[in-house]
Amino acid sequence: MSGTTLQRFEALARDDAVSAPLARLYAAALRSAADPAWEVGVSIDFVALPHGTSRAPLLHERTIGVESARLAFLLDELARVVASQSIEGGQELRAAVTGGRLAAVALLAASIAHREVELERLAVQASVPSSLLTVAGQALALPVLGTCGRQARDLVRQLAWRAGYCPVCGAWPALAELRGLERSRWLRCGRCASEWSYPHQQCPFCDNADHRTLRYLAEEGKQDTQRVEVCERCRGYLKTFSTITAWSLGDLLLQDLMTVELDLVALDREYRRPGPLGFQLDTRVVPRDREA
Ligand SMILES: [Zn+2]
Ligand SMILES: [Zn+2]
Repeated sequence: MSGTTLQRFEALARDDAVSAPLARLYAAALRSAADPAWEVGVSIDFVALPHGTSRAPLLHERTIGVESARLAFLLDELARVVASQSIEGGQELRAAVTGGRLAAVALLAASIAHREVELERLAVQASVPSSLLTVAGQALALPVLGTCGRQARDLVRQLAWRAGYCPVCGAWPALAELRGLERSRWLRCGRCASEWSYPHQQCPFCDNADHRTLRYLAEEGKQDTQRVEVCERCRGYLKTFSTITAWSLGDLLLQDLMTVELDLVALDREYRRPGPLGFQLDTRVVPRDREA
């Protein structure tokens, strides 16, 4: 992550009490993700699929190998960040991690596929609220999924991807970019930072392309730079920003956190952000030790 993005996360954590816990957690995960060692610490058996019309993301039915010591170190760091703030369950999370009652690989696997029953079970075992464990698991997965996204980038370019969810990890887009002078529409994943182009005037959540039921909400004068695109059919919404070039994973998460007012506008009108996954992912995670 660039120094500037990190500084902006720190400024957000300082100035915005509501976003601070998440900003600090993401900053810690992204600082770790910037370590090139993840590149060898994560291995995926991607196959160049005869994908064609398949709607299965690339991580579906694949196995991710993760260097277990590196992952455990990150979970320890995240638990320390959580415990240093007044978050309900923060101390318990730290105690569960240091006491060996929360395995990093199990949390990662449940988080990548967003298996709610498993997340609930892990939360009970660790005596922490499942909402906190879910957020910690998302942060834990960032360096791993970010590496998957990078390693899959060339494969993604070869896919004729038509679905609204991420072609790598199956997540619904965190936001959309209207990129460059031509304002081409790119959907962006907030887990693995993948990008995929998607038609204008089509809802990624339900594929609705009837322009009469698609519109946007924007502050007067700002509609060209930031707005919320909404679908009357499924009531989904997607924050949309004009960008010059593709945002990094850090910039994506930062932008999402810094525009909570747009979420409030949409939620207020009873639109919702579906989530987190648009595809029921079946992905295995296996621990690797350094020597393997
Ligand atoms: Zn993704
Ligand atoms: Zn829709």
